[in-house]
Amino acid sequence: MAASPTPGAIAYAIDAALYLNLTNACTLRCHFCPKHHGQWQVKGHPLELDRAPTFAQVVAAIGDPLPFREVVFCGLGEPTLRLPLLLDVARWLKEAGVARVRLNTDGLANLIYRRDTTAEMAGWIDALSVSLNAQDEATYVRHCDPSRPGAYAACKGFIRAATDHLPEVVATALDGLPGVDIEQCRRIAEDELGARFQARIYGQVG
Ligand code: SF4
Repeated sequence: MAASPTPGAIAYAIDAALYLNLTNACTLRCHFCPKHHGQWQVKGHPLELDRAPTFAQVVAAIGDPLPFREVVFCGLGEPTLRLPLLLDVARWLKEAGVARVRLNTDGLANLIYRRDTTAEMAGWIDALSVSLNAQDEATYVRHCDPSRPGAYAACKGFIRAATDHLPEVVATALDGLPGVDIEQCRRIAEDELGARFQARIYGQVG
């Protein structure tokens, strides 16, 4: 009898951080994404979910969150596509006393939900890492293949709105992707959007 595939992890620890994998769905179809190359593991953790987890399943998978330096919404999917669940879990984490809750996001939630979702995150999300990914729309579309028009402008608008509500907003881009000008991304993030900027290394989680 064939062994059944390993179910995807809802919560997975890397070093002192706990990561939460709420969905495998995405608004983008990034060409550099490991899942589009058949790679569903991150540092040995299988992340291909066999179902959309419920609040109870996420909380059960977390267990005790207090030993972790931070808890991060970040899986092989876009966490804000499960926004009500994300906010419920973030609230539960903060009420449990977790010092730092971070969200890794594509920054397209305001485009999807047609409202400023960053205001709803205030108090529950301490830090945002937003994938700006490129210095212009053409480069963004080339690498991220968004399913909706206006995604690059929406991502920038999300970053700008988030700086009004959340204490730490960091725009990111992947150093080494062809055509991506990291210094120009930095200038857009810092000078135009009022956020911080971090160049990330392709393939590195967190
Ligand atoms: S948004 Fe993230 S998970 Fe989704 S396709 Fe892009 S890199 Fe992959």
